[in-house]
Amino acid sequence: MTDKATILLVDDTRTNIELLAGCLQKDYNLKVAFNGKRCLELAENDPIPDLILLDVIMPNMDGYEVCKQLKANSVTQNIPIIFVTGKDSDEEEEFGLQLGAVDYITKPIRPAIVIARVDTQIILKQQSDTLRSMALHDQLTHLYNRHYLIEAATNKISHIVRHGGCLSLMMIDIDHFKQVNDNFGHQSGDMVLKAVAQVLFDHNRKEDVVARFGGEEFVILLDNCSLLDTKDKAEQLRVSIEQLIPQNISVTASFGIAELKKGEEFEQLLARADEALYSAKEQGRNCIVEAKNTQHLS
Ligand code: GH3
Ligand code: MG
Ligand code: MG
Repeated sequence: MTDKATILLVDDTRTNIELLAGCLQKDYNLKVAFNGKRCLELAENDPIPDLILLDVIMPNMDGYEVCKQLKANSVTQNIPIIFVTGKDSDEEEEFGLQLGAVDYITKPIRPAIVIARVDTQIILKQQSDTLRSMALHDQLTHLYNRHYLIEAATNKISHIVRHGGCLSLMMIDIDHFKQVNDNFGHQSGDMVLKAVAQVLFDHNRKEDVVARFGGEEFVILLDNCSLLDTKDKAEQLRVSIEQLIPQNISVTASFGIAELKKGEEFEQLLARADEALYSAKEQGRNCIVEAKNTQHLS
């Protein structure tokens, strides 16, 4: 693991790569590609670069074409690109910027210019990553927020429509949480929420999405997980929360679970899980209820 930003250098001429690497290797983690095809591969593999320095004139696939393909791929579209090129006409520069490049460096390579421009773009990238992360996470628990959940669920469902697979959803609501606030204060309430969120996070698989849906309500999206497996998982979580006793306060949670049906949209899946959760509350709380196959419209 390195906490240095990663830069991908792309040039078909080894001496250019060596020059660029000489400027940047002290402060950055570097990846190197000698052609466009390799650049596209390295750009979407971990560590995903924070910046790409892209030569324009290369055999087979030129830098402009590489840039277009990077911008068309959702994994790589947010990586800033600086063109490094011998071309220095205004038209060429304008064309590169129109394709989505953030800057242009002309050869011959001048180390001080390269370092200054790269440093600037890396700072901007880190700021935009921070903002994006803040926009998608809940401040108190650091879980994903409702906005991200909806985005992720919609993407997962369209993937399933195209390629098949299954998806389950768990809706979790802490029982009598208002009493926690009333009896122990809002700050203790916040600590309880954080502790429960941590349990949910610790039990999840990398591909699952754990989100704070609202106040004391959480949603977990489980990729490729049948309703039966989801029920097992919910039972483990139910017991873990019951045994947690955060802040020396006994808390339990109720669960509504549902599996995506053919042709179903996210709102319907969510509504069925919510209805099941409501039944769990009615049945005495601290339990798990499976959603019905159809949603009541009343
Ligand atoms: P039930 O078992 O039916 O779910 O009862 P409940 O008390 O958990 O449900 P209710 O919806 O009546 O109350 C939820 C409470 O959660 C009320 C609200 O003040 C509290 N709450 C929501 N967000 C936060 C938060 O961020 N921090 C704290 N401390 N409390 C919160
Ligand atoms: Mg509640
Ligand atoms: Mg609630």
